[in-house]
This record gives sequence, C-alpha cells and structure tokens, in this order.
Amino acid sequence: MKRGKLVIFCGPSGSGKGTVGKELINDPKFNFHFSVSATTREKRENEIEGKNYYFLTKPKFEKWIMENKFLEWAEYVDNYYGTPIDSVNKMLEKGKNVFLEIEILGVKQAIQKMTDAITIFLSPPSIKELEERLILRGTESKEEIEQRVKRAKEEIKFANNKEVFKYNVINNNVNDTVSKIKDIISKEI
Ligand code: 5GP
Repeated sequence: MKRGKLVIFCGPSGSGKGTVGKELINDPKFNFHFSVSATTREKRENEIEGKNYYFLTKPKFEKWIMENKFLEWAEYVDNYYGTPIDSVNKMLEKGKNVFLEIEILGVKQAIQKMTDAITIFLSPPSIKELEERLILRGTESKEEIEQRVKRAKEEIKFANNKEVFKYNVINNNVNDTVSKIKDIISKEI
C-alpha cells in the first residue's frame, strides 16, 4: 500500500490556524487523520479529551518523553506539547494522510525524522491583528496572551525559511487562505 503523506501545519497562536486547519481536516478528498497531541496545559471549556488533546500531567508527559513516545515535543508558554509517534506511523502505513498542527520547535524536530513532510506556515496579517484575535477569543489571561504574542514574533521569523517551511501563506481572509492551502495540498499529495 502507498504510504500516506505527512502535512505539518504551523502558525502562531491567534493566526487563525485552528479555523483554517478544521476546514482542511474536514475535506474528505484529503483523507486526513488529525494527529491528536498530548499537552500539559489545562483543558479549555469546549475541548474534549482524546479529540482536541490528550491532557497529561507533567510527570506523565515526562514519562512519555523517557519512553520515546513522541515524534517531537516542545515547551510552549510553560507547558509541554508533543506528537505521539505510534498513531502517526500507523496511519501513514495504512495509507492515510496525517495532519499535524504544531509550533515551530516541534516542526524543526519533526522534519529531521520525516524528511518528506509537507510544511506550511500560516502567517497572521499583522501582530496587532493576532493580538486582537487572542484577546477576542478570551481563553487566556493577559499574561498568557503577552507570552503568546512574544512567541508569535519568534515564530514569524521562520515563515520564509525554506529549510523549514516549503510554503508560507498569509491569512488575510479565511476563505481565500483555505482555498490556497487546499490547492497546495492537492498538488502535493
Ligand atoms: P494551544 O495551547 O493554543 O492549543 O497550542 C499552543 C501551541 O502549541 C500552538 O502553536 C499549537 O500548534 C502547538 N501545539 C499543539 N500540539 C502540539 C504538539 O504536539 N507539538 C508541538 N510542538 N506543538 C504543538
């Protein structure tokens, strides 16, 4: 059976990555398996264990690190986030395309192991707009938003780094962005 393709989607918190990502995952023509990450951050009200994330304690996450259960993992704003490797490999072997939505440190690790991954960065139109979206979303405290904005500025520096991202798409308008990325994925897989 033909092995599936790995799509790695990255973009700062508040770039609209969640909204765009959902549209991509729900498009049946891509046959995507969404890789559910593990995290130590607190569950948000609308999130479901095992669907959005596996919510782990820090000791449990550290145990998984020791047991080499992650394709990649990183610390992001005081919490751990990581991609469990087993399900990714299993799905790729089954011929399913796998969709990862992760931050930059994780992307850099993942592309070392998965050299044929398709990497896409989603840029916000501006930092100001990103900050406004985070405030509007209202899921983080003021301090956390500040940390996320700081991290966003770091991540954006890699948007045009071709060693990391094959594509950089600016999210000026969700519908246009979705259609641009769908074209990219259709071409690639
Ligand atoms: P959030 O707390 O908003 O759900 O996610 C914070 C950041 O962590 C986002 O940029 C998200 O893409 C990233 N993230 C989610 N899962 C993973 C993962 O498994 N690994 C890495 N490295 N980052 C992740």
